[in-house]
Amino acid sequence: MSDANALLQRLRSVGALKDGHFLLASGRHSDRYVEKFDLLRQPSATSDVCREVADQVRGERVDVVVGPTTGGVILAFEVARQLGVAAAYAERRSDGVSGREFRRGTTFSPGQRVLVVDDILTTGGSVRETLAALAAQPVDIVAVAVLVDRSGGRVTFEVPLVALTTLDVATWDAEGCPLCAEGIPLVKPGTTTASS
Ligand SMILES: [Zn+2]
Repeated sequence: MSDANALLQRLRSVGALKDGHFLLASGRHSDRYVEKFDLLRQPSATSDVCREVADQVRGERVDVVVGPTTGGVILAFEVARQLGVAAAYAERRSDGVSGREFRRGTTFSPGQRVLVVDDILTTGGSVRETLAALAAQPVDIVAVAVLVDRSGGRVTFEVPLVALTTLDVATWDAEGCPLCAEGIPLVKPGTTTASS
């Protein structure tokens, strides 16, 4: 069994990898969905997965691990802890402009080598915004590391991309969706809130 399958099994065991009929943020429908927070609410499992990320870059010099809010903050912290280096967090810009920035007194030193981490790679938007924010800093980017690449290999960056696993998720528009045709109720993930 490959490590990639082991990660998918872990995601499934914590309930993060779901089968069903889902409305994605893109408006398309799919039969699989990854709720990263089902993993990130489990510190022990998250720590194990972050060790796998850290192991991917132990041959490289990394000085700072950077992740975008929200899930990337947890991953950057834990990967950095395991590597024994610093972490930094790319937050949404406070001025309402799209993109990300480093706030709360974050500074980088010239020549620092940065590993960017994120959870699920779909469109690559949050990673791209993080790389853009880092472009204003005097640092070198070692690589981008993600837990799951579900872009189907379509998303690439100007730096190496490391994915612990890839996941092909079939998607359909509403008209062409076989699950709609079967009358299976459509679920919009991430919208349920704890009520008490
Ligand atoms: Zn559907």
